[in-house]
Amino acid sequence: MSSTAGLVIPCTAAVAWEAGKPLVMERVEVAPPQAMEVRIKIKYTSLCHTDLYFWEAKGQTPLFPRIFGHEASGIVESVGEGVEGLEVGDHVLPVFTGECGDCAHCKSEESNMCDLLRINTDRGVMLSDGKTRFSINGTPINHFLGTSTFSEYTVIHSGCLAKINPLAPLDIVCILSCGISTGLGATLNVAKPKKGSSVAIFGLGAVGLAAAEGARISGASRIIGVDRNPKRFEEARKFGVNEFVNPKDHDKPVQEVIAEMTNGGADRSIECTGNINAMISAFECVHDGWGVAVLVGVPNKDAVFMTKPINVLNERTLKGTFFGNYKPRTDLPSVVEMYMNKKLEVEKFITHRVPFSEINKAFDYMTRGEGLRCIVSMEE
Ligand code: NAD
Ligand code: ZN
Repeated sequence: MSSTAGLVIPCTAAVAWEAGKPLVMERVEVAPPQAMEVRIKIKYTSLCHTDLYFWEAKGQTPLFPRIFGHEASGIVESVGEGVEGLEVGDHVLPVFTGECGDCAHCKSEESNMCDLLRINTDRGVMLSDGKTRFSINGTPINHFLGTSTFSEYTVIHSGCLAKINPLAPLDIVCILSCGISTGLGATLNVAKPKKGSSVAIFGLGAVGLAAAEGARISGASRIIGVDRNPKRFEEARKFGVNEFVNPKDHDKPVQEVIAEMTNGGADRSIECTGNINAMISAFECVHDGWGVAVLVGVPNKDAVFMTKPINVLNERTLKGTFFGNYKPRTDLPSVVEMYMNKKLEVEKFITHRVPFSEINKAFDYMTRGEGLRCIVSMEE
């Protein structure tokens, strides 16, 4: 047992008090884990676009004050009642969606949409008692995605933690806890391109490039990157993207440009932008008869997907996925092993590193579209 088990831990967290305003480093109190919960010492965290969306809160339900962060790695500090399979000192990756192990989804081979622990962007409290584990002088601070990793310590439901190989470097595999596994799984588990096929990737951020990495591993021969930011193209070459389309360079819809390039449409497309128009283009750019489009980006909450039904009748398939269809506890450890066995390249996604005190810089990089992943180190 650790010396802090059962006690409130005072520590530093980056708190978002208002939408779009820089995070403020605050002393927060982190309550001990309750039944089925685990308290984690976060070692490294990074920023994913989903944090940025909910921090900006433009097309989303605002909930403040809140501690964001869901892509991270850490070490178990203490466990609550009833927790099985996790002990003090275990190395873990928190995940924004969980696996209770008992529900119909967890028992299905096809789904990772756990009834109990699936992603919930509007909840700011823990499931067991509807309360937060963070407070500042008695004021509760909301959780985000059940993970809130922008804090030296955090409390997470045990079903949202993957226990990983203790030899895996936490400052690298932290990005497997969301973005990279999401993009990789969207290709390998959902789009499933055949060897020699063409794959269009919309959005060349870390998630899109991880989808490209999946296409490379699958042996796709044409990997077509679509992005409005031309700065992305140079970087994307390293990920096997071999053709580029910037929608801004064309006066016709990008789906028509891709149909012309591919003799009728791409075999697969994976949308990783969150932009509703890109989602529609990603669907309409796949070949009739066999094309499959996979939506990954998180849209504005009021966005509506519109296409002519004939596009579906013509034997195109539209799919969507959270976390690349990986079950977090069961499957994530094997994604870490793919990295350990050098099948999956992870280092090339890491373009920046900052100490925790400079976490706002990670937001600046992402807002400016610079680089892919910025690792925030909790120990200065
Ligand atoms: P990012 O900001 O690094 O990359 C997004 C890219 O999309 C940028 O390069 C941007 O220029 C490009 N883009 C935006 N609008 C576009 C358009 N209309 N056409 C072409 N390109 C466009 O973000 P990221 O961290 O790679 O995340 C990508 C998306 O995936 C986000 O929406 C994020 O919320 C979502 N996401 C989903 C899941 C899931 O489980 N479904 C998990 C993680 C992230
Ligand atoms: Zn479940």
